[in-house]
Amino acid sequence: MKIKENILELKDDIKKYSPNPEKVLLLPTTKYVDALGVLEVVKAGCKVVGENRVQALEEKREILNSLGEKDIKWHFIGNLQKNKVKYIAPYIDMIHSVNKISLAKEIDKRAKQNNRRIDVLLEVNISNEESKEGYSIKRLYEELPDLLKLENINICGLMTMAPFTYEEEDIRKVFSDLLKLKDQLNKRYFNGKLVELSMGMTNDYKIALFEGATILRVGSKIFK
Ligand SMILES: *Cc1c(COP(=O)(O)O)cnc(C)c1O
Repeated sequence: MKIKENILELKDDIKKYSPNPEKVLLLPTTKYVDALGVLEVVKAGCKVVGENRVQALEEKREILNSLGEKDIKWHFIGNLQKNKVKYIAPYIDMIHSVNKISLAKEIDKRAKQNNRRIDVLLEVNISNEESKEGYSIKRLYEELPDLLKLENINICGLMTMAPFTYEEEDIRKVFSDLLKLKDQLNKRYFNGKLVELSMGMTNDYKIALFEGATILRVGSKIFK
């Protein structure tokens, strides 16, 4: 079974490249497969998975629930539209893509309606690419005071996507800058509460591990 082998290889790499392997979550990004594909990674030991579209997530979750797989944890990693938050708010384990105050407020409101607190990450556009979603550092600092007022979201880390480049040093810089930003924010605002760094995908996960990633969002390497 190839999926299982790929996961084992990734787990070996986590031990090899991360300074804190026990803190790293391998998050299979299951957008490439249907519910049965999700089931395969669950059987291979990954019970937390990431989806980037609400409708696909809901469909797969429903099928897996009907198969009796009720303890899978779902992370939302894609661009999230405000009007879709209500669908996932009752159960989503973490949302990686909070990139504006209006979205954060909507998540907060829906979490409250469901009597829960939702773990979220702030998505940062470290490389400042125009085409990219995510906070610029400037806007992040502007909105932070308001973000911190929201009681039903738990901001527990940062997320970023590396630039589309083959220059390893450019990628490395983006990841190490995210780590530095996390440390700064912890000192000034979070008192050590920011622990997660969601960074690293199929093409750059080894670099991300080296730079302190705690959540790897990997799809192609597992499923293709
Ligand atoms: C698809 C996707 C990934 C995984 O990308 P691969 O290169 O296939 O590993 C990670 N993060 C997000 C937000 C994605 O949409």
